[in-house]
Amino acid sequence: MNTIDYLRIAVTDRCNLRCVYCMPEEGVDLKSHDEMLSIEEVEKLVKSVAPMGIKKIRLTGGEPLVRKNIEILVKKIASVEGVEHITMTTNGILLGSMAKALKVSGLNRVNISLDTLKADKFKAITRWGDLNDVLAGIDASLKFGLTPVKINVVAMKGFNDDEIIDFVELAIKKRVQVRFIELMPIGESDEKARIEHISIDAIKAIIEEKYKLISTDDIVTDGPASNYFIEGHPGSSVGFIGSLSNHFCGRCNRLRVTADGKVRLCLHKDVEFDVLALLREGKSEAEIRAFFESIIPLKPKGHSMTEEGWGNQKRKMSQIGG
Ligand code: SAM
Ligand code: SF4
Repeated sequence: MNTIDYLRIAVTDRCNLRCVYCMPEEGVDLKSHDEMLSIEEVEKLVKSVAPMGIKKIRLTGGEPLVRKNIEILVKKIASVEGVEHITMTTNGILLGSMAKALKVSGLNRVNISLDTLKADKFKAITRWGDLNDVLAGIDASLKFGLTPVKINVVAMKGFNDDEIIDFVELAIKKRVQVRFIELMPIGESDEKARIEHISIDAIKAIIEEKYKLISTDDIVTDGPASNYFIEGHPGSSVGFIGSLSNHFCGRCNRLRVTADGKVRLCLHKDVEFDVLALLREGKSEAEIRAFFESIIPLKPKGHSMTEEGWGNQKRKMSQIGG
């Protein structure tokens, strides 16, 4: 069993975009505010698990920046003993105005999701987003030190496979890390993922026609990503997350909590454990910790995403948090 030291918390199921592979235009069935973890409940959850060795917390969603009082939550988590690192996965739309306050509150860095560098395609894939907002968010994150900034690009055949080199050049220009992610057959993307899938090997081959990539795997491993420096361009790197072609379960060090307080041991398995109920019953931090310790051994050893019928998950990505 790997050491589990990383918890991803979806702080909302709401979003200010509707990426076509993630959410239907009308949105998903939203939970009422009462059904979601409150700021205080998230804080108690983190305090409960930190003594087990959970050192890294990622806030995700839905869009974490639309959660009211997100800076207050970041500050509370940052002051929990044992938490060494707080990160966020965001679409970046609101980062231009929020990056500074988030940094001051204790956020260490951000992953920004961005699938195209063309304004019209950005509007199409997100249904109404403005690319300039995300670009301003990247610049603000760099300016206020939410670094290293990672840009997550979901690769889709016929949509952005003509922009792979443009993204590598963005990594070089802005000195950020760009990570290409295989589209997964989850939520809105069951059929789409089968049609538009491009393997990370194919993406890597496109990059290697122009740039020499040098493996960084002697440095820090980055969960599911394999990372490479771009020769001649210090400070920039590219990474690949091949959830379909490469099973990375053997390296999995994480747990997930949904916005409505359900613990998932694996992104790809619908089995969930209700921690919201325990929090609402007034269980102590020690009791909540004992609950986590009892379920961690049940973490699956692998998943079978390429199996027929795999995509029939009950949850959407926006509810699990990616
Ligand atoms: N709203 C935030 C964002 O977009 O970064 C955080 C939540 S979003 C669900 C987290 C990540 O999941 C994003 O990078 C998004 O591109 C990715 N994602 C959503 N659906 C996906 C799918 N079917 N396959 C691969 N990645 C997906
Ligand atoms: Fe919203 Fe993120 Fe899903 Fe896009 S990927 S719809 S930004 S939750």
